Amino acid sequence: MKCAMFPGSFDPPTLGHINIIERSARLYDRLYVVVADNVAKKCLFTAEERIRLIKDNFRDKENIEVLSFRGLTVDIARELGVDVMIRGVRAAGDFGYEFELAMTNKQLLPTVETLFMPTDPHYFLLRSSAIKEMAIFGADISAMVPANVAKALAERVVSRETL
Ligand code: ADP
Repeated sequence: MKCAMFPGSFDPPTLGHINIIERSARLYDRLYVVVADNVAKKCLFTAEERIRLIKDNFRDKENIEVLSFRGLTVDIARELGVDVMIRGVRAAGDFGYEFELAMTNKQLLPTVETLFMPTDPHYFLLRSSAIKEMAIFGADISAMVPANVAKALAERVVSRETL
């Protein structure tokens, strides 16, 4: 059984992430989507919320499992016993960072391969940080994220404004 993982922050998940998850799940028997529960990174959504936002888009896909992890990506890769770590790349700008990350991970865990999956041309402009900012300033982000994420973002932005 060939297993892969797709690690990331997913704060929030975008249609770009959803697309990489769908395509990767077609290539592997099992795909683990690993939501980074990173204490140092300030996220708009908790790890549990991000898990739910992803899961709700894949209710009928039995080979996709979504979980969170606090720690090094290589440690969860080892724990899950995956063969491959998938990373999505949008533009050349992503590549330098992703390449260095892949080199580091290879050194820490030589048995796991990093595979880069180029974004679908429809989604190459999608970036979670920009989407959050657009949502905060009231832009229509409904073509950039799944419907459940658009709803959650609208609710979160309103609840922050009323704090
Ligand atoms: P991280 O903090 O790990 O970079 P992100 O949630 O920003 O977490 O991204 C997770 C993964 O998804 C990364 O490999 C990133 O390159 C990829 N990704 C993000 N947005 C897109 C997109 N629009 N198309 C394809 N891949 C994407």
